Amino acid sequence: MSNVTLTNICKSYSNGFNAVKNVNIDIQDKEFVVLVGPSGCGKSTTLRMIAGLEEISSGELHIGNRLVNDVDPKDRDIAMVFQNYALYPHLSVYDNMAFALKLRKMPKDEIDKKVKEAAKILDLEKVLDRKPKALSGGQRQRVALGRAIVRNPQVFLMDEPLSNLDAKLRTSMRTEISKLHKSLGTTFIYVTHDQVEAMTMADRIVVMKDGIVQQIATPQEIYDHPANMFVAGFIGAPQMNFINVKIEEKNGEIYAINNQINIHLSKGKCQPLIKNGYIGKEVVLGIRPEDIHIEDLFIDNSLDTTFEAEVEISELMGAEIYAYLKLGNSTVTARFDGRYRVRFGDKIKLAMDKEHLHIFDKDTELTII
Ligand code: ATP
Repeated sequence: MSNVTLTNICKSYSNGFNAVKNVNIDIQDKEFVVLVGPSGCGKSTTLRMIAGLEEISSGELHIGNRLVNDVDPKDRDIAMVFQNYALYPHLSVYDNMAFALKLRKMPKDEIDKKVKEAAKILDLEKVLDRKPKALSGGQRQRVALGRAIVRNPQVFLMDEPLSNLDAKLRTSMRTEISKLHKSLGTTFIYVTHDQVEAMTMADRIVVMKDGIVQQIATPQEIYDHPANMFVAGFIGAPQMNFINVKIEEKNGEIYAINNQINIHLSKGKCQPLIKNGYIGKEVVLGIRPEDIHIEDLFIDNSLDTTFEAEVEISELMGAEIYAYLKLGNSTVTARFDGRYRVRFGDKIKLAMDKEHLHIFDKDTELTII
């Protein structure tokens, strides 16, 4: 079993800075978990504590049901792939991959078998004699993965392994790493600040901010039901729009209102607002750009979410167009089908898909709905 459990894990650096605060994550055997968050949120520190490269200040770390807080990195049965690949420049690809196995005094023919197997999986068979400097960035990254694979670890740890690659190569390596995970059937823990990597590769995503876990859930769950405004804004591009509104009741119906919009909320959205005393209070309404539609094109029988806005900027992306719209003093972003051309200065009538509205508490920033 290669499950990894972090229980109340904290990290205080020697200067007194608390980089990781009371983190609890239960990673299942064979799961692909991605730790994501902005720079400095503590994701690398968390990974390095799992690897044994950083001391755990308090809490318990179990790998495969064994308490490993004080176990040496080499005895944790893990392999780590770093952002800078950390290849030995004077060794060939073959010897880079064989290095750890030689240290373990593994018989030569066994090493040969393992290195060749890994080279086959990673399509490195033709470059086994080359030195790292004679490889492309993608090949170097695959050698770094190969070095981890040959060790046959229980758990793979990866810290921003794709950040030195160009955008196109990053996309193809993303797919390769996902395939690798499936074929190896091993637990993967992967750190990135890139939400696309997190969304596309993870079985579950751990979103972190300021050393604190904000949410742990599947990519779909994180996207559809973010736990708070930070997660809602961090995942999704262009990011979710946040609009300050007041919740009001008129004739038994509930509305979200400001000077520009007047949205009749559906029954399902109202209940938590009523129950938790939000009537008459200010809240933050969240709507993703793809949930704002051109009114004429919005096939929905309830058009009580309409508003008018002026196009400030439009960006044609090919299949879609991003429109930045002036709504009062703020700008709202909408994402339309690219065939619908909106231009600077256009005044357009829009409708929000009220099934996809989010509502957040203004003070705690936690999701109400
Ligand atoms: P990045 O994406 O920039 O690598 P991260 O989320 O991985 O960010 P960490 O590297 O885990 O963040 O760092 C978390 C915080 O701890 C940062 O504020 C960082 O400055 C601080 N930090 C890291 N190492 C040390 C150290 N040795 N001593 C003191 N503070 C540190």
